[in-house]
Amino acid sequence: MLTHFPVALPDEVLYSRLARWHLHSGSRSPKQTLDDLFGNRSVRAAIDLQRHLRALSERISELTPCSPQDLLRQTLFGYYASHQTAGMARMAMGAMIDGQASGLHARLGIAAGTRLPPCPLRWCPRCHAAAMRQHSESFWRRAHQLPGVLVCPSHGLPLRNARLPEAVGQHEFIAATFRTCPPEDPSLPDWAESPETIQLLWDIAQKSARLLDHPAPAPSLSALTDQCRDRLITADLALPSGRLRISRLNFFNLQKTFSMRWHQT
Ligand SMILES: [Zn+2]
Repeated sequence: MLTHFPVALPDEVLYSRLARWHLHSGSRSPKQTLDDLFGNRSVRAAIDLQRHLRALSERISELTPCSPQDLLRQTLFGYYASHQTAGMARMAMGAMIDGQASGLHARLGIAAGTRLPPCPLRWCPRCHAAAMRQHSESFWRRAHQLPGVLVCPSHGLPLRNARLPEAVGQHEFIAATFRTCPPEDPSLPDWAESPETIQLLWDIAQKSARLLDHPAPAPSLSALTDQCRDRLITADLALPSGRLRISRLNFFNLQKTFSMRWHQT
């Protein structure tokens, strides 16, 4: 039986809350943490789409009312579901709540190897400092972990990659601490020297973050297909037939392609 569970901090991803519990509780091992939180030592830790939410909710509810849907809103589900049909979103939600989730990422349109950037946990030095001042500990924000978000949506600063242990097990929840978020300045990427690029990335980060809390109504599959095809053709990333121009679909080309158009959306 749990004796405490940390309150969710603003925009905190569920993974981070579980990592703080692991830290606060002095748990003996990642497997012991899974046993305590889920009653199941085979649960995998997921930064984006944590599963087995019903089991977790039942244990937390002994301390504070918390439905599986409440926990779902602390993941990146809203962002991914906003790109899917209502039926697919419902199926993915059920999979996250009850754990039957083979192919969950693929169903939500997240192809293996296409998540950007590669570091699994990112943080903003100004958010980190504010959290330390206000809460005496830091945490991982949801908006910082979204694919394609390279700057903090609140501050416009380039996000930093967490310093993680060399091998992180798939059952481990790693907390945001001075060890994983070291204060020394890293070398900044080349794009950070361009104010235009920073502004563009800030716009993308803010729009991406808004999808988390205010997902757009799920369109029908045909409407979604038409919408995506039209936008790709307009951006010269697909031929008039709808066939994709794969060689242009990488970050730096997207950066150039959308730099003029993004502000019009
Ligand atoms: Zn920030």
